[in-house]
Amino acid sequence: MIHVQLIIQSSNTDVVIFAIGFSMSIILDHLVVKSFNTYKKTTYIDVKSIASELRSRFIDHYVLLVLHALSECDSTSYIRNITKKNFFQCYFDNPMNYSAIMKLSSNPPPQDAIDSAEELLINRYSFDYTVKSLDELHAKMASIWVKDRNRKSISGSLPSSTMAFHEHCLRSSRRVKIWFDALEPFPITPALFRNGYDHSSTANKFKIKWSALNDHPNDYRLQTCGECKGGCTGCKCYKNNLSCTVFCKCHQDVCGNRISYNSSIQNNSFDVTSIQSQSIYESSEGERVFQSPYACSTPKLNGMRNNLTSLNFVSISYIFT
Ligand SMILES: [Zn+2]
Ligand SMILES: [Zn+2]
Repeated sequence: MIHVQLIIQSSNTDVVIFAIGFSMSIILDHLVVKSFNTYKKTTYIDVKSIASELRSRFIDHYVLLVLHALSECDSTSYIRNITKKNFFQCYFDNPMNYSAIMKLSSNPPPQDAIDSAEELLINRYSFDYTVKSLDELHAKMASIWVKDRNRKSISGSLPSSTMAFHEHCLRSSRRVKIWFDALEPFPITPALFRNGYDHSSTANKFKIKWSALNDHPNDYRLQTCGECKGGCTGCKCYKNNLSCTVFCKCHQDVCGNRISYNSSIQNNSFDVTSIQSQSIYESSEGERVFQSPYACSTPKLNGMRNNLTSLNFVSISYIFT
């Protein structure tokens, strides 16, 4: 009896994952990848037996391709602060919980496949709160870290938004569909448009669609006024019923729309300068837009502006708790 076996020599992770994924579709007795790393250490990986092992645990071995696309490949993004190994590990800790991610091989993918991938990413972050979405996780992390004076940067460690991850899942789904159809005689490549890509300004070119949300938040409470000359009695802040803050460009001696910051600020946990350095960016109108802890809590009682008292700061700290 003749045993048919094949050894593939490669240092590429993609080759190992594809070999496991397609090992059951290729009629061979043995399929082995001879893998080597930069230290010239050679490992023989019996990919057919790995696929069999996964099957015996009721895990579809093609899921490795889905995880590979979600955690970065040549055409999908790397998820900041999340390594491929960690992403895979999180899945294998509880594979039944994320079984819906296999549906990412359908294009367009159903919502439950994207929801399952989002849950997998949320669980990858070790965070002591139960959250339902990446947006909620993002907000929770930011609200806790903004109070941490030892933390130099917040934005670089925050997870992706739900919307940005949705677009990432669409790109991953397109890629997985192409891989899954690799053995088809007449595969049809899914379009780029509406699969995490958008038309670029150059004809017939596409660009990555990072998110379907606006580049800047459009919450009016995050806006500040410009260089007002008239004491801020008719500016954007005043019309929005918000007091001007240190983030506005108006001069505090001229502005009549400010509240006096007294020693009560020092009694509270906010560090205005640290928040300012992390949160300001220029809007398209040349005005500064920021995540102001005051903007959403400017006290207004009975239609009248109130002075900022320590009592009002109590309500601010609730927001950030
Ligand atoms: Zn103003
Ligand atoms: Zn002002």
